[in-house]
Amino acid sequence: MRSSVHNSSTGSRSNSAIRTGKLFVLAGPSGVGKGSIVRELVSRDPESLSLSVSVTTRAPRPAEVDGVDYFFVDDDAFDRMIRAGELLEWAEIVGHRSGTPRGFVEDRLAAGRDVVLEIDVVGASQIRDRVPGSALIFVEPPSMEELERRLRGRGTETEDRIRLRLETAEWEMEQRAWFDHVVVNDDLERASSQVAAIIEAYRSA
Ligand code: 5GP
Repeated sequence: MRSSVHNSSTGSRSNSAIRTGKLFVLAGPSGVGKGSIVRELVSRDPESLSLSVSVTTRAPRPAEVDGVDYFFVDDDAFDRMIRAGELLEWAEIVGHRSGTPRGFVEDRLAAGRDVVLEIDVVGASQIRDRVPGSALIFVEPPSMEELERRLRGRGTETEDRIRLRLETAEWEMEQRAWFDHVVVNDDLERASSQVAAIIEAYRSA
């Protein structure tokens, strides 16, 4: 299935270029700090960079707000969205499903705004196949030990879930070869600046 997302520049009848937005994907293991990087980037540049809010079937964590962190839905609603073609991509993530609402992304790109998705590697591979021209950025931890420390530090998950996330992370690390860029998140400020520089390079290309 191909997406109808347009993300290349198109000429109008008067020949002046209309800039459509660019889709950036930040993927990598759970707990690597993608969310912090994305929040930092959007806060630096809220006018031209929008973060897509995902739909998920998992329960909200304390302090998570519906419509801000995620749109929290049940399995039936998620199934309906898949059937209606409303998800640009989706994946199963340790016992639940999360996906990107298509409408928001298409509207923003059409309006010339850039959009960033903070998703897992399976979802990123769907974007690679469905949205040609999107920029795929893999965020990796300085080490697997550090990733484990961060996952445990969240204090929100059972031991089984943490083990599952670490096993998934090993497979995800092998997938970074097909990404356009790899950024190590050893320091939030530095990693955010590196991703900002990548985005800037695409904008000025
Ligand atoms: P968490 O449950 O900790 O919020 O997220 C777990 C993983 O799901 C993270 O790696 C996150 O990037 C990923 N994720 C969040 N939203 C989406 C989505 O819409 N699509 C996909 N494929 N992954 C997502």
